[in-house]
Amino acid sequence: MSEPEIPDNNAATENSGKVTTAPPHFIRYIIQDDIKTNKWEGRVITRFPPEPNGYLHIGHAKAICLSFGMAEEFGGTCHLRFDDTNPVKEEQEYIDSIKTDVKWLGFDWGQHEYYASDYFDQLYEYAVQLIKLGKAYVCDLTAEQMREYRGTLTEPGKASPNRNRSVEENLELFTRMKNGEFPDGSMVLRAKIDMNSPNVTMRDPVIYRILHASHHRTGNKWCIYPMYDFTHCLSDSIERITHSLCTLEFEDHRPLYDWVLDELGVYHPQQIEFARLNLTFAIMSKRKLLLLVKEKHVRGWDDPRMPTISGFRRRGYTPSAIRTFAERIGVAKRDSMVDSGLLEFCIREELNLTAPRVMGVLRPLKVIIDNYPEDQIEEMEAINNPEDESMGTRKLPFTRELYIEQTDFMEDPPKKYYRLAPGQEVRLRYAYYITCKEVVKDKDGNVVELHCTYDPDSRGGGTPDGRKVKGTIHWVSAAHAVKAEVRLYENLLTVPDYAAEEGDKDFLEFLNPNSLEIIDNALLEPTLEKVRTGHRFQFERHGYFYVDPDTTDAKPVFNRIVTLRDSWGKMVQQNKHD
Ligand code: ATP
Ligand code: MG
Repeated sequence: MSEPEIPDNNAATENSGKVTTAPPHFIRYIIQDDIKTNKWEGRVITRFPPEPNGYLHIGHAKAICLSFGMAEEFGGTCHLRFDDTNPVKEEQEYIDSIKTDVKWLGFDWGQHEYYASDYFDQLYEYAVQLIKLGKAYVCDLTAEQMREYRGTLTEPGKASPNRNRSVEENLELFTRMKNGEFPDGSMVLRAKIDMNSPNVTMRDPVIYRILHASHHRTGNKWCIYPMYDFTHCLSDSIERITHSLCTLEFEDHRPLYDWVLDELGVYHPQQIEFARLNLTFAIMSKRKLLLLVKEKHVRGWDDPRMPTISGFRRRGYTPSAIRTFAERIGVAKRDSMVDSGLLEFCIREELNLTAPRVMGVLRPLKVIIDNYPEDQIEEMEAINNPEDESMGTRKLPFTRELYIEQTDFMEDPPKKYYRLAPGQEVRLRYAYYITCKEVVKDKDGNVVELHCTYDPDSRGGGTPDGRKVKGTIHWVSAAHAVKAEVRLYENLLTVPDYAAEEGDKDFLEFLNPNSLEIIDNALLEPTLEKVRTGHRFQFERHGYFYVDPDTTDAKPVFNRIVTLRDSWGKMVQQNKHD
C-alpha cells in the first residue's frame, strides 16, 4: 500500500474552518409546534428501538442523536426499547453492545429500558381483541400462496379463503396456535384490512406467526411471536410515546401503524419519518456487517474499519465528533449519500484543538550526525499544541543518532523537493539544521543510513546568517525512541456507493484488500513510553492516532484515526471564498 506523500511541517495541513452550526429541521418544527398547541400536554417522549440482531452502526448513531437529542432539547425523555420479536436472530451480546454504544455516545435512557418481549402478554390480548372486533383472522395459506394472493404494485390482491372465518373459529384457532398445536409456518394471524389497497402493506398483513423457538428473554413461554408492524405501534402506545421517529422505509407502514391503534382505540403517538444516513465507502446493512464478522473479513464488530459505533470508538473517534457529525448532516425527508469526508472533518476539527502533538517515525531511516558529540544529550523544547498554549511544552532528547522518515530522504530528488537529499539542508523540527553528506547502502542498493552534519548555530530553527531552509522534518533520538505498532486504515470498500455498483456482483468484491496496514516497528518520541488506551495524539505530519486496547506494557499499539489531509475542510474554505 502506498503511503500518501507526507507534507513538510511548515506546509499548511491543518484546517480550522468552522462549518456553521446545525440547520433547523422539520422534526424540530413539528415538536415546537406541538408544544405550542399543547398537543401532548407539553410532553416529548421519543424512543430508539433497535432490534438486537447486530451491533449499531453510524446510521443508528444518527437515529440515536435525533431521538435522544430531541427529547433532551425539549426536556423530555427517550426510551431505549429493544425490538426483540425475532428470537432466532437475537442475542444478549447485541443488547449489551447496544447499551454500551448509546451510553458512549453520551445519552441516558434512565429507567426507561424496555423490551417488546415484555409486552407479549399485552400484545396477545390486543390480537384477541382485534379478532373479536372482526378485524383479524387466522389464515392457513402457505407462504407461497400468500405471496400470490397479495398481488403486486399494479395488481390488486385476492382474498384468502379464510378471510371470513367466524370470530369464534378465529379465537379457537389462535388459542391453539398459542398452545403449540400447529407446526411453524402452518398458519398465521392476519389483520383484516383491504386486499385492494394500493398500499401492499395494507393487504391483510401478517401480525402473528408460529415459531417454536426459545426467546432470549421469555424462554419457551411462547411459540407464536408478533410481527414488527403490530408490535411497534403498540409498544409506542403502551409507553405513551409522543413522537415516534423512524426512517423513510416505514412511510408505507404508517397507515398500518395508524390502523392498528385506531381499531383498538388506544393511545396514538405520531410516527414521523426521516431519511436514513448513507455514508460513502460504508456498509450500512446489519446483515452484511454480520457476514464480514462471521467470515472474518474484519477482526470483529469493533474492527476500526467497521462503520459500527464500536468500530469508530476503537479507531479513536470521540462521541462528541460523532454527535457533531449527526447535527451537521441534518434531518431531511429525502435519502441521500453523505461524504465520509464530513465525518473525518468533524474528528479532525476537534482533535486539532485537543490532541497533543508528538513526533513519531513510521518507517525509520537512521541518521548519524558526524559532527555532534557522541555522548551529548540536549533537551529540545517542543510545543504540545500550537492551537492551545495552555497545553504547554515538553522536552525531547536530541542525540547524535536519530531516525527520520524514509520518505523524507531522496537520493535523486526532483526540483522543489525541500527535504533531505545529498548535499541538501533541512530543518529538524524543534532542533537543528542538518545537511546530508553521505549515503550508506546495503548490498541490494537500499539506503540504510545517512551521515549528516549539523549547524550548531541553528538550534531552535534559525541561523545568524539568516539563511532560509524550506523543509522541516520530524525525528526521534535513536537511543530514546519507543517501539510501537501502528495500524493504518483505508476505506473498507473500494467504491463510494457499492449498492449502486452491486448489480449481480457480490458486495465482497468491493472489499479493499489494502484496508489495513500494520507497521510493527514504528519509533516514537520517548514521551509516549507509558501510554494507555483512551489517549489521542497528533503524530506530526501523519495524522491523528488513538492508543488501541491491544496496548501492553511492552508495546504500545496505535490506530490512525484519520490523516491530516482535509479535502472537506478545503471545500468549506473554498465555498466561503466563492
Ligand atoms: P434491520 O431492521 O434490517 O435489522 P436496521 O438497521 O433497520 O436493520 P434496527 O435495529 O431496526 O436496524 O434500527 C433501529 C433504528 O435505527 C430504527 O428506528 C431505524 O430506523 C434506525 N436506523 C437504522 N439504520 C439507519 C440509518 N442508516 N440511518 C438512520 N437511522 C437508521
Ligand atoms: Mg429495522
